[in-house]
Amino acid sequence: MSDKQIISWDEYFMGLAHLSAKRSKDPNTQVGAVIVNEEKRVVGIGYNGMPYGCDDKVFPWARVGDTYNTKYAYVVHAELNAILNSIQKLSGCTIYVSLFPCNECAKAIIQSGIKHIVYESDKYCGTETNLASKRMLKAAGIDWKQLETTVDVHVEVVRNPELPEE
Ligand SMILES: [Zn+2]
Repeated sequence: MSDKQIISWDEYFMGLAHLSAKRSKDPNTQVGAVIVNEEKRVVGIGYNGMPYGCDDKVFPWARVGDTYNTKYAYVVHAELNAILNSIQKLSGCTIYVSLFPCNECAKAIIQSGIKHIVYESDKYCGTETNLASKRMLKAAGIDWKQLETTVDVHVEVVRNPELPEE
């Protein structure tokens, strides 16, 4: 098994973020986030979705229109969900996220005590909210690193062959 490829810790956690993103009902953007402590243990995980009790078949996913009828008024981002779902204090933790955090998530990241961000895509680089995000993160002493590799996660779900025929 000398040619067996072992993924790095960064790729492993980014892969988990991508797996989590597959739970998102957002038809356009699926984002996942994983929070890891200094012992490399996962302490929080999330994806972008509607708040608890807000039916994702009823609430809007539209990107254009009046605010009341777009997803922007409702969706909880992956990073915030990961923070809110976390199981311990997040001081000194690292957040892995497939897309660079927006300014709203940057606020939550800073206040949670997370100290490092590892991301894959920065497709909104240079937009005003992206610059505001980086402005706050820099002031708060949080570093960020873009992965040199991208992680593609392919999931194949099939009926369990051990089950009897229907
Ligand atoms: Zn966000």
